[in-house]
Amino acid sequence: STLIELNKLLIKPPFDQVILGEGAKSHIKKVFGSELTASQVVDKIIHDVRQQGDEAVLQYTQAIDGVTLSEDTLEVTELEFQEALTKVDEQILAAIRQAIENVRSFHSEQLPKTWLTYREYGAMLGQSCIPLERVGMYVPGGTAIYPSSVIMNAVPAAVAGVKEIIMVVPPSKDGSINPSILVAARESGVTRVFKVGGAQAIAALAFGTAQIPKVDKITGPGNIFVTLAKKAVYGHCDIDMLAGPSEILIVADETADPSYIAADMLSQAEHDVLASSILITDSSKLASKVELELQLQLGKLPRKEIAEASLEKNGLIIITKDSMQAIELANISAPEHLEIITEQPFALLPFVKNAGAVFLGPYSPEPLGDYLAGPNHVLPTGGTARFYSVLNVETFMKRTSIIAYSKNALQAVANQVITLAEAEGLQAHANAIKVRGKSDV
Ligand code: NAD
Repeated sequence: STLIELNKLLIKPPFDQVILGEGAKSHIKKVFGSELTASQVVDKIIHDVRQQGDEAVLQYTQAIDGVTLSEDTLEVTELEFQEALTKVDEQILAAIRQAIENVRSFHSEQLPKTWLTYREYGAMLGQSCIPLERVGMYVPGGTAIYPSSVIMNAVPAAVAGVKEIIMVVPPSKDGSINPSILVAARESGVTRVFKVGGAQAIAALAFGTAQIPKVDKITGPGNIFVTLAKKAVYGHCDIDMLAGPSEILIVADETADPSYIAADMLSQAEHDVLASSILITDSSKLASKVELELQLQLGKLPRKEIAEASLEKNGLIIITKDSMQAIELANISAPEHLEIITEQPFALLPFVKNAGAVFLGPYSPEPLGDYLAGPNHVLPTGGTARFYSVLNVETFMKRTSIIAYSKNALQAVANQVITLAEAEGLQAHANAIKVRGKSDV
């Protein structure tokens, strides 16, 4: 293929141009009575939640998710948390606790320091790092259950020192939340959990309702409705990033084991039909072996239908002349997860420019990072690794500058400040300096 054709395949369409499936379209028609686009749906939901608060939240939860809740049952109660703890299998609980420990330990290394530095005449300059007061985290709950997403959002916020961590998650049909989600929330430091998903959850967090508190920032991945809602409320609060369907891009050479590569590609494909799995290799032999392996392993997966449709729509194997060319293409794609399984993966690392997370060598499969290694799994997707970073402790903090001059320090620079202020025609600015130097105002 020419590079232009490859670019078309590697660069995802902008997230706001995602074409809705037939199921979603007919659902929208049923709920809203007309054929709305995803953006129109999101705008309407945000408008209604902003105007009517919990009433709209409950109405949409009923109409879209088919779950009837009331103002009294919207929030997870202490009893529900306690019951969840008794329902979660011991081994799952132990794994959740281990994951939290590893994620906490990794993210503790990221804590930025408040600092002060001295300049001439005793002037002090610095920066204080302040945690956000209250954050909202979205945990997806549509087609799968993600306790790992709870951990990956909540632990960095807790490490940053955020006081209130409000979580929203779509309820199951019976109005409950999966126990492992609740246990992960409790163990990770989440303060309150509300049973609401989609755009209605994002709107409630951004504007606040009688039940759901308004937050300073919303983090966490979700589907197209969640992502568009986050974009729409940005400015009323902050958001982490616009994350879309999961992606993996594997750069491999002939030394790689095709069964590892197929397994890792399928680990993304099973997420959802829109997820993408790409192999770029300079070995045509490896490429054919991986194709065979994909078929073999696919047949045994419980989420075979999703994975198969995902591979058909967004699966790709590209053969390049060498590994360097493979990395060049990977940089164009800017994948969420980049695996490098070549003879010398570290030799290629310095050339990686755009990737959410990089996994090096045959024993660093992507799911290790999803769950337990410690780094965050909330990563930029859809090519946005060009400019977004992985979720981290600073996502939950602000930086504030500190300026403390002495009289002498101010006098030493007074003329220059006055010159600049007057050049901008801002006399009052200049006066603020002059009065302190006792010159004529
Ligand atoms: P979700 O929680 O994002 O979406 C479910 C909600 O969407 C429902 O509660 C409903 O209110 C709303 N919704 C569904 N259909 C609708 C419609 N037709 N109209 C209006 N609203 C509608 O769960 P999901 O759908 O399973 O999507 C989860 C996404 O998150 C997937 O794309 C997955 O790949 C991604 N994900 C990413 C990461 C990451 O770290 N990047 C981790 C986990 C999941």
